[in-house]
Amino acid sequence: MKMGRNEERFYPILLKYLRQKGYLTEGYKDYGKTKFEFTRVGGKTQADVVGVKDIGRMYSHEIEIVAVEVKDREQVRVKYITQALGYSTFAHRCYLAMPTKYKDEYINYARQMGVGLLEIDKNEVTEVLTAELKNPNETMLAWFLRRSLKLVKCILCGSIIYKFQAKRIKRVNIFGKEKHLYVCPECYSMFENIK
Ligand SMILES: [Zn+2]
Repeated sequence: MKMGRNEERFYPILLKYLRQKGYLTEGYKDYGKTKFEFTRVGGKTQADVVGVKDIGRMYSHEIEIVAVEVKDREQVRVKYITQALGYSTFAHRCYLAMPTKYKDEYINYARQMGVGLLEIDKNEVTEVLTAELKNPNETMLAWFLRRSLKLVKCILCGSIIYKFQAKRIKRVNIFGKEKHLYVCPECYSMFENIK
C-alpha cells in the first residue's frame, strides 16, 4: 500500500538542515509567550520552510532569507520550480525540496530559473543545485519579516530583533499618516538615560 502524502514530515529535517547552515528557524509570537517554527509562514505566498541568516560583516546588518517549497512527490513538475521561484519576492534564495533524484531536464530548468534543489533521503538533505541570489522587494521583505517571522529591524542601530522585544514608537508625518518605528531595548534605554 502506498503511504499517503505528508510533506510536513519533511519540515523537521529541513529545519535541522537550515540550522546546521547557520540559519535561524524559529521565533516568538504572542508577545514572546509562544515559540514557533518558521514553517508554513506567510500569507498568500506561503513558504513551507524558512530560514534567516545574518550575512553582514561587523559593521553591516545584511540578512539572507531562504525559502523552501516542499513536495512529497517522486515526480518533479515544472510548476513546483515555478512555485519556489515565487518566493523570490521576499526571499534571497529559493529552493525546492523533494524525496527524489532530480533528472537533468529539471536541474537545467531550475538553474535557468535560479531555483535551488534539495534532495531529501531519509533524514539527510543534499544540495543538488545551489539557489541563485535573488533581489527581493525591500517592502515585501520587511513585511514578511515582521508579519510572518515576527522579526523587526531597530531603526537606530539596524539590528534584527524579535518583535516582542522591540519598543514601538508611533509618529504622524506631514501627510497625516501614522508610522510605526521599532527600536531595540539597548537603543531605547540609551535614550531613556539621556532624558
Ligand atoms: Zn538598536
